[in-house]
Amino acid sequence: MIMPAIATRTYKIFQEDSSFRKLIKRMTQKISKISDPIKKAKYVHKKINEEIESQFKNQMVDKLVQCKKGCSACCHSQVAITESEAFLLAQKVDEGYGIDFERLQIQAMAGNSAKEFFKLSYEERACVFLNDSNQCSIYEDRPSVCRTNYVLSDPVNCEIRDGESPSVQLLNTFSADSWVYSYFKLGNNNGALAFLLQRVLKEKDNKIRFPLSKEL
Ligand code: SF4
Repeated sequence: MIMPAIATRTYKIFQEDSSFRKLIKRMTQKISKISDPIKKAKYVHKKINEEIESQFKNQMVDKLVQCKKGCSACCHSQVAITESEAFLLAQKVDEGYGIDFERLQIQAMAGNSAKEFFKLSYEERACVFLNDSNQCSIYEDRPSVCRTNYVLSDPVNCEIRDGESPSVQLLNTFSADSWVYSYFKLGNNNGALAFLLQRVLKEKDNKIRFPLSKEL
């Protein structure tokens, strides 16, 4: 099971705390009650947004966070997603949100391996949903992991080039991370964005084509 790094780190910090474990249990119960994958993804995204918005009500947080529109270094990293998020992303592709299929293929070949992914050039690592203005073309439906990355240190250090990963200081997003952790904990098919999205798109494509080829 692939787990996102930041949410897992938060879990490890608090796992000995019984009230935290109860919180995770309550969250997983709420998430698991939703069977429709798209609704499930959207529910978790809403919960994460609520936690983040509440943090940003603190003026100090708003002042210290360095992330700006068009700053996209974190969109050149390997993003972990759940299977239901892959369905949501595939739906966006079906709706006409254009992606670079060649780049999707290149990234998907790395599978779920971060080591293989970071062997790609910086340009090849750009998320397939990153548009020409360096903005997320599906911002409202971006994956849960993309919602909890806020840097406090100089954004120049967010760029990972040639496998070098300078240290960055991130905003603690413990409450939102708890939702992310609970969500991923429920999934057996979590994986890297490109790898999982390509798989779901292929499965969808096969379902559409199969009846047609039978008719021929
Ligand atoms: S889905 Fe959007 S926010 Fe997430 S990595 Fe891709 S472009 Fe960036």
